[in-house]
Amino acid sequence: MTASFTMKFLSPALILMGLATALFAEDAGKPAPTILKLPVRVHLMQSATTPAMQTTLTEPDIRRIFAKVNMVWAPAGIQLQIESIGPSQAVELNEEQRFLPEYDKVGAMIPQDRLSATAINVCYVKEVSPNGFYNGKLIVVKDTAALKEVAGGLDEPLPRVTSHEIGHALGLPHRQDTTNLMQSGTTGYSLNESEIATTRENAQERLQKARPPEAAPNPPPP
Ligand SMILES: [Zn+2]
Repeated sequence: MTASFTMKFLSPALILMGLATALFAEDAGKPAPTILKLPVRVHLMQSATTPAMQTTLTEPDIRRIFAKVNMVWAPAGIQLQIESIGPSQAVELNEEQRFLPEYDKVGAMIPQDRLSATAINVCYVKEVSPNGFYNGKLIVVKDTAALKEVAGGLDEPLPRVTSHEIGHALGLPHRQDTTNLMQSGTTGYSLNESEIATTRENAQERLQKARPPEAAPNPPPP
């Protein structure tokens, strides 16, 4: 009786185990996607004259934010690696620049000589409308960012806004769907297959551009 009882319950278990093995075997045939490690230069904007350009975030805040950013980007096999975190003094605007649209004005206040040519530049400020932007060159995020909470969303706005802007920097447009990363103004953070493919392609391109020319493959041994 014990034997038949065991058999009855074992066989479905065995079938499942076999299935799992088969799935694993199929998985093992495919090489695991390479983790693409993108360098990030973080600028903590400072200004004695423009309060909107003065962030109060500190290095531990940035480390906490990027730990969550990396959780968001993990499903795409993309890892953001902080190259440096440092204060950057906002540039004073000249008469003409004061009349620029807000994004351009904020962009103009970021010192160009502090920007990395190879890393993703993320600049934290105090106030910009709405929560952040990517202007084709750099990312700006306000440390007072606020978002509409959605089910299963991130527990904190700053990592979400930072991750969303990184999405734009890696070629993603908005997708006003449900609880995804590229929806505007919510805490959602999911990515779909096509977004993963697009961002991985762009990340790879960035890494290729950043590679120094002398990093050619080693010549074969004599
Ligand atoms: Zn956006």
